[in-house]
Amino acid sequence: MSDRLAEPLAKSLGARAANPLATMGLETVDDLLRHYPRRYGEPGTMTDMDQLALGEHVTVMAQVARATVRQMRSRGGALLQVTVTDGRHELALTFFAKRPGALRPHEDKLRPGRHGLFTGVVTEYRGTRQLTHPDYVLVGVDADDDADAIDEASRPIPIYPATAAVPTWRLQRAVRTVLDPLTEDDVPDPVPAEVRDRLRMPTRLAALRAVHVPEDAATWQAGRRRLRLEEAFVLQTVLAQRRARAAEQDAAARPPRADGLLADFDAALPFTLTAGQQEVGKEVAAELARPRPMQRLLQGEVGSGKTVVALRAMLQVVDAGGQAALLAPTEVLAAQHARSLRAMLGPLAEQGMLGGADRATTVALLTGSLGAAARKEALLDAASGRAGIVVGTHALLGDQVQFADLGLVVVDEQHRFGVEQRDALRAKGRTAPHLLVMTATPIPRTVAMTVFGDLETSTLREIPAGRSGITSHVVPAANERWMERVWEKVREEVDAGRRAYVVCARIHPDDDAPAKATADVEEMPELLDLDGAADTGRAPLRAVLEVADELRRVPRLDGVGVGVLHGQMAPADKDAAMARFASGDVPVLVSTTVVEVGVDVPEATVMVVFDADRFGISQLHQLRGRVGRGSDPGLCLLVSTAQPGTPAAARVEALAATTDGFELASLDLELRAEGDVLGAAQSGRASSLRLLRVVQDADLIAQARTEAAAVVDADPGLATHPALADAIAAQVDADQEEYLERA
Ligand code: ADP
Ligand code: MG
Repeated sequence: MSDRLAEPLAKSLGARAANPLATMGLETVDDLLRHYPRRYGEPGTMTDMDQLALGEHVTVMAQVARATVRQMRSRGGALLQVTVTDGRHELALTFFAKRPGALRPHEDKLRPGRHGLFTGVVTEYRGTRQLTHPDYVLVGVDADDDADAIDEASRPIPIYPATAAVPTWRLQRAVRTVLDPLTEDDVPDPVPAEVRDRLRMPTRLAALRAVHVPEDAATWQAGRRRLRLEEAFVLQTVLAQRRARAAEQDAAARPPRADGLLADFDAALPFTLTAGQQEVGKEVAAELARPRPMQRLLQGEVGSGKTVVALRAMLQVVDAGGQAALLAPTEVLAAQHARSLRAMLGPLAEQGMLGGADRATTVALLTGSLGAAARKEALLDAASGRAGIVVGTHALLGDQVQFADLGLVVVDEQHRFGVEQRDALRAKGRTAPHLLVMTATPIPRTVAMTVFGDLETSTLREIPAGRSGITSHVVPAANERWMERVWEKVREEVDAGRRAYVVCARIHPDDDAPAKATADVEEMPELLDLDGAADTGRAPLRAVLEVADELRRVPRLDGVGVGVLHGQMAPADKDAAMARFASGDVPVLVSTTVVEVGVDVPEATVMVVFDADRFGISQLHQLRGRVGRGSDPGLCLLVSTAQPGTPAAARVEALAATTDGFELASLDLELRAEGDVLGAAQSGRASSLRLLRVVQDADLIAQARTEAAAVVDADPGLATHPALADAIAAQVDADQEEYLERA
């Protein structure tokens, strides 16, 4: 950063002006220049005052309609009452003073016909909305001379994220004070000149002027676009460097063998691979055969057959003398993966056992909750190389876990794992292991580029034939007849030999908080507070233990076993509950979102979700993916307490209306802050993205990716791009700071 940008604001503004800015976290010139306007007031376009909410701190663009000074008989003192209008609605501005004379300066300025910006907290007095002692600026009045005034009056007015102590025009003035004297030399540009030229983008300084002091709407739009490109470009450069570094690492080549476990597995496969599985399988096989680490993201809907693809990759590595690790986000899932891998492999996983195949391997399960003896054995299997496949949770990341020759790491449901963990596991091999990340949360292409930008992406688009699909309905919780119908349906399915999940957001009815993870992340429901649900007047969340109790007394479910599953149970109890459900012993399972990811019980056909309106879209989609996995059609019943017409109701209805994961993922992103999207998947990075929107700015992200790749290709160390290197270093610093604060 240049000296000018690093300068403390007190130096250019004086301590009196700088101190309030410091309370907003704005300490240097650079901080202030990155405090971008939230929106722009267009002269002549007034704020729709119908939208003002009581108690809110607002800034409105309006025209003075009338102003009168009155003496107040009752209290003494004087009152200036000004009415401003947006052309349709009116808002009162009220100023009090001891003597009318003290109100004269306001009265002089607030003349009927003038336009201005007014800011204050909205209150109501006798049915009229008002601002008391608002701060304001008048267009064309608060300028130094006439020429300025005319100019000012025609320009968009930047409206900054402000506080009551620092109104937007004070920010504007401060920005002008530091921005006006800057020259191109003061403002290094992380976007290289040739990239700017190619994309026809202005310099960083020009962009700053455009967003802070725009001539017209087109100016600030172009300025913002350029700043978004910069954010995308810096991020993509980081990712390109990561890719380049990974590409330089050595990996052991694991070429396929004609006569190995993989060949045996394929020969015994009871179904034909889908075209997508074959294609991705080829891609993966070729990459494993190279002496550079594969870095691949495999995405596909729940049930699209990712696990088969991963298992085939693992077998290729085992055939080549290496080991594969499969990392799952929860213990339940890890256990389930181990079970299903063993089931798919059959005799091929029964190394050294009676009835095992001649060529066989061992699938070891290593989780935090194993008993001492089992744990020791699993550790030994991993370290000796006896286990070709080791399945576990983040416990696999522990220092005690050694591998004889780790050749491939498969990460299931990556969105629960950060970049750091990925690196930790990768560091476990002598050479860098190949990496395959699987996710069932469909990720739009540009999000994948942003969040998983250091990975290549493969997608399984088809669902294997023979699935019957899922139907979804929204059920209003208050409608008793509908709820009865829900249990009737559950009964019918159970009688037909099938199973039902019932999911609740928390465990105990008397807990205030939703089910918080105890030892594991597995049941942290991603509850939303989108609707400002400060929970006034909303029914409390339904709880697992309470609902299970009720179901045991519902006449329709007489004689039907009802089990529970949640993270506060001992691991052995969890496994037992899952097993009884899978076997059909206890065909109704009331649980937390433990069952969200990956759990595979083909006979499960009904998914009932209580308080569905309080869950995120992608989480509901994941839950829904638990049913309809066998040959019988699935049914998802979303029990909702949302009022019709609210965003929450809209969300649940949208989910019921489509099963297209990509459509839902886009919808989900629109409903969240970008920071959440990125933050959840990749810690840190979010802090550097202020303007970039991962969905809408798809074109910029794609351009930035191409340009960044070319820049890093030509100059991996960025020696010829000091401004870019600085921007990256500053970002990494900020991320680390944030990381430390959170730790
Ligand atoms: P995902 O991991 O993507 O959710 P899985 O790999 O677990 O999906 O596959 C879901 C189910 O479909 C499993 O029971 C699996 O054996 C089966 N399956 C996978 N591929 C095929 C295929 N090509 N044809 C038929 N069934 C398949
Ligand atoms: Mg799976």
